[in-house]
Amino acid sequence: MQRYLWQQAEGRRHAYDTARNPSPRAGESFTALCGQTVAPAPEDMIAGLWLAPTCHACEFQLAARVGWSRSELHRLRISQEGSTA
Ligand SMILES: [Zn+2]
Repeated sequence: MQRYLWQQAEGRRHAYDTARNPSPRAGESFTALCGQTVAPAPEDMIAGLWLAPTCHACEFQLAARVGWSRSELHRLRISQEGSTA
């Protein structure tokens, strides 16, 4: 299993650590990389319906954990600030 995966929950697509949360389930809360504790609804478990915007804090945390350089993280932050989500 990949170390980090994405899961839509409570209006955002969050990333999570599979070492801490092996498999999120509908109605059960998990802690995302951004620090929020969220619970997916049943419809959030249907990957084709992941229309919620990406959680920027999770995106940044994930990039940092997989080893992006400071300059790459800086560019990511700038691109996030330029988007509306
Ligand atoms: Zn998040």
